[in-house]
Amino acid sequence: MRKRDGRLTRRGFFERGARAFAGAGLLATPHSIGSANVPAENLDSETKVGKIALEEHFVIPETLAASYGALGSPEFQRTLQEIGSARIAEMDRGGLDICILSLVGDGIQAISDVSQAIRIARRANDHLAEAIAKNPKRFKGFAALPLQDPQAAAQELTRCIKELEFCGALVNGWSQIGTADSAVYYDLPQYRDFWATVQQLDVPFYLHPRSALPHQPAYEGHPWLTGSVWGFTAEGAIHALRLMGSGLFDDYPKLKIILGHLGEALPASIWRIDNRVSRTLGAKPKAKRPIGHYLKENFYITTSGNFCTQTLIEVIMENGSDRILYSVDYPFEDTAIAAEWFDRAAISEADRSKIGHGNAARLFRI
Ligand code: MN
Repeated sequence: MRKRDGRLTRRGFFERGARAFAGAGLLATPHSIGSANVPAENLDSETKVGKIALEEHFVIPETLAASYGALGSPEFQRTLQEIGSARIAEMDRGGLDICILSLVGDGIQAISDVSQAIRIARRANDHLAEAIAKNPKRFKGFAALPLQDPQAAAQELTRCIKELEFCGALVNGWSQIGTADSAVYYDLPQYRDFWATVQQLDVPFYLHPRSALPHQPAYEGHPWLTGSVWGFTAEGAIHALRLMGSGLFDDYPKLKIILGHLGEALPASIWRIDNRVSRTLGAKPKAKRPIGHYLKENFYITTSGNFCTQTLIEVIMENGSDRILYSVDYPFEDTAIAAEWFDRAAISEADRSKIGHGNAARLFRI
């Protein structure tokens, strides 16, 4: 729809886009054309229930002070710690059957003392396993890992998968090792044996972002940019690009990495990345294939905290609906608002079913 001055409104913009996608066969439901939202009465019961979400966080007292939860009210901090009936009530409100829970950032990654990082990771994982045991049908777990010590991280992941029956790992970006201002990324050679273990265990690794280091000139004077507003996107994307460009997936082609927030802007950037890699006069990555090859083959993308239909459709077009998984980012996001968006978003019912639960059920064998 057009305003009188000829400018396209937001809804009008989407309607044009929706028609284009429908023409391309992306939107199978005729009633989705002409509106960004499917009317609630047209939803079948299958799409209203049974979602699986996998970027849902908790905290333990030992990591609360260095977590994003520390910025919240005492009530928010209680919500973040609680893994029981109140969380299940929130899941019911958002149509979630299962949540795969993970320790909130910066979590273990911010513990620069290596032996302490190993000890607290183990404690967080045991705490999560106890909570899961009380509600095994609703809760599953991702391991927190002390990547300050790659060998200890591999051992803890193995314990979490084989003994605690966790679904994989969620790691909150780079680790601080020895000093608070260090930042160690996992494309470095000392992590290759760790990645071999991840591939051998055949479990996904969720790469959750953390804030950008605030002393970079680009962020100075703008603390609002360092965290989830923008720093997460920049940090998450560059960490993923480092993994892809390093040749990690040439050595371990079966690794499965999960990115949140509809892919940390990478699906929208990947054509230009590979175009410039092929034409640049400067340095090139070590990887054997185009970066986009790894983004399609080794990555899964969740909807956590990015409830934008246009972006979701873009990710479907770039990566395919088999690689996208529903997530909320609770309690930083609201389960009901996420569901309200997802249950009505202008995508086909087949894609809604896959993204809502089918892909996760297959990936995690749950
Ligand atoms: Mn998160």
